[in-house]
Amino acid sequence: MNKNIYVIGALLVILFVASPSLQATARRDRSSARQTDYGYVVVRNSKYVVVVPHALDEANTELVGEKVAYSLGATLVVNNKYFKATNSRASSDPEHIEDFNELDWNGYSYEWDDRVEAMHDFYLDLDRSNRDTVVVFIHGMRDSYGMGADIGAGVKWYNGELLGTDEHPNSGSYTGCITADLSRVQQLANTLDRYTDRYCGMSTYIGGRYAAWDRNTGTQWFCGTDDESIQIELARTIRNNPSVAAKMVVRAVRSAYG
Ligand SMILES: [Zn+2]
Repeated sequence: MNKNIYVIGALLVILFVASPSLQATARRDRSSARQTDYGYVVVRNSKYVVVVPHALDEANTELVGEKVAYSLGATLVVNNKYFKATNSRASSDPEHIEDFNELDWNGYSYEWDDRVEAMHDFYLDLDRSNRDTVVVFIHGMRDSYGMGADIGAGVKWYNGELLGTDEHPNSGSYTGCITADLSRVQQLANTLDRYTDRYCGMSTYIGGRYAAWDRNTGTQWFCGTDDESIQIELARTIRNNPSVAAKMVVRAVRSAYG
C-alpha cells in the first residue's frame, strides 16, 4: 500500500515536472526566435501572421501578440527596438525613432529612402509565400476614446454600410484599400464586442477612430495581394490583462477565419 502511494506520488511529480506549462512552452518558443535589427520573428506554419509594430509605445502589445500568435500557430513579427517620436526615450535615443506603422506611399509604391533599414526588413518579413495569409496587427489605444477595441480594415460605417475610401463621403484624401473580407470583419468585431463589453463595458467598433484606410498604414502593405490584413486597437484596460486580451482576440479571429 505504502509502496503504491510512493509510486503514485512519484508519477505525479514526474507529470508536473515533465509537462511544460503553456508559459514555459511559449518561452522556449520565443528563444527559438530569429533576432533582427528591429526585434524578432518567430516563424510558424498556420495561415496567420501576428504583427506588433509599437511594442515600446503601447503597453503589453508585445505580450498580447506573443500569446495570440502562439495560440493561432501564427508567425510573429515584433518591433521592440524602434519607437515613435512621442516616446519618452526619444530625446535620449533619437536613432531609434521610427514609426513602424507609418509607411511612405508616393501614389505608386512605398518609398524607403528616408526610413531606417530595419523597418524595411520588418515589412519584408511580413510577406509569406503561402497564399491567403491573414495578417493581424496588434495595437494599443487609450481608454478615453470609449472603445474596448477598434478594428481597422480600410472601412468606416456610413448609413448602415461599411464603405472604403472610394465610396465613403468622408474619406477625404485617403486612398487605402479595403484590406479584409467585410463579412469576416463584422464577425470578428461581433465576437470581440461580446468579450470587451462583458469585460469592461466598452464596445468593439469597426473604423470607429482607426479605420486603417490611409495608404500609409501598416495593414495597407497588403493592399492588392491575396492576403487579408486587419488592425486591432485594444484599449488600455483590456491590455492590462494580456492573457485575457489575447484570449478575446484569438476567439474573435477564430470565429471569423476558423
Ligand atoms: Zn500602434
